[in-house]
Amino acid sequence: MFKVFKFGGASAGSIDRIRQIPVILRASKASGQRLLVVISAMGKTTNALEKVAEAFFGGHKEEALRLFGQIKDNHLTTAKYLLVHNYLAAEAQLKDFFTEVEWLLHDKPVREFDYYYDQIVCIGELLSTSIVSAFLAESGIGNQWIDVRDIFRTDANFRDAAIDMTVTAQRVEADIVPLFGDDDMVITQGFIGSTQDNESTTLGREGSDYTAAVFANLLDAESLTIWKDVEGVMNADPKQFPDAKILRELNYDEVIEMAYYGAQVIHPKTIKPLQNKDIPLYVKCFLDASLPGTVIHNNAVKGLPPIIVLKKEQVLVQLHSKDFSFVGETGTAKLYALFGQVRVKPNLMQTGAVSLQVCLDDRPARIERLALEAANDFDVQIERGLTLLTIRHYDMGTLTRLTAGSQELLKQQTPQTVQVLMR
Ligand code: ASP
Ligand code: MG
Repeated sequence: MFKVFKFGGASAGSIDRIRQIPVILRASKASGQRLLVVISAMGKTTNALEKVAEAFFGGHKEEALRLFGQIKDNHLTTAKYLLVHNYLAAEAQLKDFFTEVEWLLHDKPVREFDYYYDQIVCIGELLSTSIVSAFLAESGIGNQWIDVRDIFRTDANFRDAAIDMTVTAQRVEADIVPLFGDDDMVITQGFIGSTQDNESTTLGREGSDYTAAVFANLLDAESLTIWKDVEGVMNADPKQFPDAKILRELNYDEVIEMAYYGAQVIHPKTIKPLQNKDIPLYVKCFLDASLPGTVIHNNAVKGLPPIIVLKKEQVLVQLHSKDFSFVGETGTAKLYALFGQVRVKPNLMQTGAVSLQVCLDDRPARIERLALEAANDFDVQIERGLTLLTIRHYDMGTLTRLTAGSQELLKQQTPQTVQVLMR
């Protein structure tokens, strides 16, 4: 049987944390079990690499190289601290990846930004997994490292690439399964893939959870465990709500709804591959593996407390038909098509006879395009800096408490869920 583990950036964010990985693996891996481990880029490396891509694309080559130099130093220092016997081999592997990026940074950008973004940003997970794989080997945990770009085939929609499941499934069967001996471990990356022309792609920020779930699906794994620096899934963000409680058990639907409304629990795409094969997802605390964490599965869960999600940086776009022609299906259909074209997703929407109000995430360039296009048929008003409150399984007390002192601009209520857009 296979199991899949995923360690997030926080679990690989420092030397001390990386030292914890073999401790967890030894304690959690039963003998005879085959474990595939997906590891994110170390700490804030992905953000740092984004800065490199921006500097490069902005024509600031020296700045890009300087920023990349810091990332190199960081990884070499980490490797030096952790490794003795395997240091030189790991250093050689890291340097190959450094060269991959530097070679590109010395060119001039001639393609679109998203392409360069992916070629640069994908390096983060390759570096972290190289170090961890070597460290595990040195800690007596035999493992096979593999570049997931050789497994995960995607389309060329850079920064938001879609996985080609057919090709990827064939490669998992042909190239991943044989890597396992009876009791082996495979270490690989999440979040990245490559096109049929061997160009690197990324699956969208925080995409490692998704990769891990796809692996679990394709391997028919018995479970996926995501190791985080929190106790499990909470009913609210503890940074915003200090009395947030841990949820021991959830079902897939609940989690997908929470993620959809903006809870930063798990990448929203993660659930489908698991749900489709009825694979349970465990969210466990990396700092203390003895804590029970949260289990997410297919069965109904009763008696959940109110689950609260606050989404900041919301925009309210109000559209009012100029000639009163926005009545009936065609007007609405046209607007939905426009949302698709400019790639915005309504978080909350209210339609009237000749007007429509929609709450969106503030992606300034997209909102501007939307406003421009819509201005042909509508008077457009935009208000920024709003907060969208969503409460699942709400009670009136919680709703009143959380909306006190704010002005309500838009509200939608079902027996299950209430949403309020607040100023
Ligand atoms: N390293 C990537 C990110 O920070 C992917 C991930 O961690 O899931 O977005
Ligand atoms: Mg992460």
